[in-house]
Order: sequence, then C-alpha cells, then structure tokens
Amino acid sequence: MNPLQRPDELVPETPGSLSFRALWHDGTPAERTLVLGGWALTVLACILLGLATVRRGWSGIALDLGGATAFLTFYPPIPLCLWWTLSLGWRWGALPAWLATFVLALDAGMAPAWASVFACANPLGLAVLALGYRAVGAARGLRSLRAWLFFVPLCFVAAVFSSAGALLWTFARELPAHRQLPIWQGWWLGAFLQSVVFGGLLMTLTWPKLSRWIAARPALFSPPPSGRRAMGLGLLFVIVLAVQGYGLVSLGLGSLQLREALHSGQWSRLEEAARVMVSTAWVFFWVFALIVLFVAQFGYQALSRWLRSTEALVNQLARVNAELEQRSRTDSLTGLANRMATEEGLRAMLRTVRRYRTPAALLMLDIDHFKQVNDRHGHAAGDAVIRALADALKASSRDVDLPGRFGGEEFVVGLAHTELDGARRFAERLRERIAAAPVSIPGGASVSYTVSIGVSVMREDDAGIEDSLRRADAAMYRAKQGGRDRVEIDAPAHDAAVPRTPGKT
Ligand code: GH3
Ligand code: MG
Ligand code: MG
Repeated sequence: MNPLQRPDELVPETPGSLSFRALWHDGTPAERTLVLGGWALTVLACILLGLATVRRGWSGIALDLGGATAFLTFYPPIPLCLWWTLSLGWRWGALPAWLATFVLALDAGMAPAWASVFACANPLGLAVLALGYRAVGAARGLRSLRAWLFFVPLCFVAAVFSSAGALLWTFARELPAHRQLPIWQGWWLGAFLQSVVFGGLLMTLTWPKLSRWIAARPALFSPPPSGRRAMGLGLLFVIVLAVQGYGLVSLGLGSLQLREALHSGQWSRLEEAARVMVSTAWVFFWVFALIVLFVAQFGYQALSRWLRSTEALVNQLARVNAELEQRSRTDSLTGLANRMATEEGLRAMLRTVRRYRTPAALLMLDIDHFKQVNDRHGHAAGDAVIRALADALKASSRDVDLPGRFGGEEFVVGLAHTELDGARRFAERLRERIAAAPVSIPGGASVSYTVSIGVSVMREDDAGIEDSLRRADAAMYRAKQGGRDRVEIDAPAHDAAVPRTPGKT
C-alpha cells in the first residue's frame, strides 16, 4: 500500500455493500462479532432513541431564530443509520431505521398496517443517499470541500424524501394545518441537520480506519452495480422530484395555515400565519437556489467523468485498432511483413519507380530442400530455420527495403533505389551469409541450409508488380534448376519461361 495514498482513494469510488452471507462464511470471528454485534446494538439504540423522541417530546421543538420560528425534531437514529448506509450498504442502515420508526408508531397507537408504511419514510431517505453515492462515487471520508459539497445537498434531498413520513403521520392523526407544518418542518430540518452534523462527524471520524478494512476485505463486499449513468440520471430525477415536493408541501402547508387563520378571523393568528408564509417562501427560495447549484456542480462532475471515460475508451479502441492493423500485416512466425503487406509495399515501390524514374529491384528467395529439414529434424526445426532466414533478411536490409514472407519458405525482398547489378551483389552476399550460418534447432543440434535467389528489376512499363515478381520467380526457378544455393538474375530472354506461379511452395 502506498503510504501517501489518502484513505479515500483506497476503496473503490463506487461503494459496494457488505454481504451478510460473505461475512458469515468468510469473515473472521472478530469481524463477525464486531459487525453483527455493533449492528444489533445499533438496532437496539435506534428503537430506544426513537421511543424517546416521541415520549420526551423531541418532535417539532420550536426554536426562536430572532423573530422567526423554526421547528426541529431530534431523532438520533438518523445519523446512526446514515453511517451504516454509507459505510456498509443501504440494507444495514435501512433495517434499523424501519424498525425504530415502526416501534415508535405502534407505541403512539398507530395501526400496524399504517405503521409499517409510515416506517418506510427514513429507509426511503437513506435509499436516496445510497443512490447518490453509487451514482457519483464521491469520497465518503468527507475530508475535502468537494466531498462536503456533495454530501450536504444530498442529505437535504434525502431528508425531504424521508419527511414524507411526517405527512403520513399528520394525515393518520388528522391534525389541523397549523400542527402539520411544525411536524413536517421539524422532520426534514431535523433529519437534514442531524445527517450533516452528526452523520458527517461519524463518517469523518471512522472512515480512515473503515476504508482500510474495506480495501483489505474486498471478498466480503458485493460489487457495486454497473450502470452508473442510469443511476446518475435516476439521481437527477430524484433531486428534481424532491425540490418540487418540497416546494409543494411547504408552500401548500403555509397557505393552508393562512387560510385557517383567515377563517378564524383572529388577527394574531393571521399575523403568525403570514410570517410563517413569508419565511417559508424565503426558505424555499434558498433551498431552490442551493439545489440548482448542486445540480449544476453534480452535472458538471458527471459530465466531465463521462467525457473522460469516453475519451479513455476511444483511446483504447484506437490502440486496439492499431494493434489489429499491425497484426493483420505481420507474419506471426517471423515478424516480417506478410504477403498482403509485402505486395502493398512493392506496389508503392513501383509507383516511385514510375514517377521519379528511380530504379528498384526485387529478390525472390526459396529455401533449398526444405522438406528434408522438416522430415529429418521435425517441424519445429523447420520453423527455426524460417525464423533464422527472416532474421538474416532483416539484418541485411536497409530501412527503405522491404523484406517479407510471401508464403511457406518463400520470401521476397524489395530493394529501393537499387539497380540490377547492386541487387545481384546484395543477393550474393545474402546467399553466402545464409550458407555460412547454421541454425540452432530445438534439441541442441544445428542445421545448415541454403537458399536459391532470383533477382529482377521493376520496370516503368510493368503493368503491375506481378510482372516483376514473375520475372524474379522465373530467375529463381533457374537457380533451382542450376543446382540450388545460387543467384540468378532476370534477363529478357528468359521472360518467356514461366514455369511457376509466385507464392506457391
Ligand atoms: P526446393 O529446394 O525445390 O524448394 O525443395 P523444398 O523441399 O524446399 O520443396 P518445397 O518448396 O515444395 O517445400 C516446401 C516445404 O516447406 C513444404 C512445407 O511442408 C514446408 N513449409 C511450408 N511452410 C512451413 C512452415 O511455416 N514451417 C515449416 N516447418 N515448414 C513449412
Ligand atoms: Mg523450397
Ligand atoms: Mg517453396
């Protein structure tokens, strides 16, 4: 592990979740005790603290903020469940959150069916958090401004979602509008502040150690789902929905209260309701403004990430394409140009000959009695000889020349800017070099071999490279006829004798 790496960077950006099954089967006893024991304690604490919220009246506490009143609900299970959700996965946080709310609802006298629906509110908020982190893969250690800029607005969106529970609560209990607003506001504001302050603190304090453990035990975590783009779009949709819901509920409840006050005809209630309406409108404005900023920042981040990944993909594709192109032109045994690439190169050479009237020559080589090499020493030895010949061709050619494997044990060398005489000397040197260098073959022995070479020049009036290839092939055939291990050059008189087709072994 690189000691300079920040803990945030140790774990994959997109969180996977701790698999209960993997923990049970593959976790060490200490891991099982710590995680399951800690989780059981969390469940218990959430239930007790949830009951305390109702019994001790921690719900909808009115705070006087210099004239304006804000309502706040103190509900400690929220930051605990947030910690489990962000660290080990949604299920670990959602279950205690559900149980705590379910129990307190039953305790408050709600019907079990209602209570079980009502209890889904906080798990819903936690799901938004989990979705956000999965979609964006922001740093969960909250050690940078950027990490907080993602965390805080997401907590708000999650809090708004979970505050749907407050509406259920007031609806189930048929509370009047002026009692609904404090409960609803207390719920989202309380959930938001507690998530940010206590949840954020828990994450910051525990993440360095936790992330090291997560990085060390990937087998215990189920991999994050793919399809981040879809999740990113889902998150945007959720955010838009949250802001709209928030605006609708806060302004709706505010105006409901105003209408009730108007009906009552009491000046003091009207004054209070108007004040609430004005502050609600302002809060809505600020929330709206902040969320727009968040969406812009999130959109920018997502866009640049997608652009980067697309760019990486395009680069990779270009690399693979270049490699494929290279492979399709190379002979795999020798690394020389294959027949297709050799012919292409020879065609280019012929174009140069025609345009600039420079000479170019062509060598056609065939290994002598190659069948015997294969028969006596085996195919692997034959391959070794072919490779050795290719190496000799590479070593003897200049950059501008074009050695290539034409097929089997037949090779061609295109010699740029070379007259017939120069080509003959080159071929002679090559022949001597080959005959003088036995090849080591698998098994430790060595094999001597020779080649027959035919030489021709490219002519301006050649219809195509096939013409000069045919002449070189004819010359090579004469070299074979003449006893092999020889060089023969093309002469016009021999053009007519065309006993072989180039490329056939
Ligand atoms: P000559 O002197 O007349 O050219 O005789 P030769 O034995 O070389 O005859 P020919 O050209 O007909 O034989 C070519 C042999 O080369 C036949 C084939 O089995 C062998 N061969 C072709 N390609 C390869 C290869 O890639 N590896 C090996 N080991 N053998 C090959
Ligand atoms: Mg041969
Ligand atoms: Mg042959």
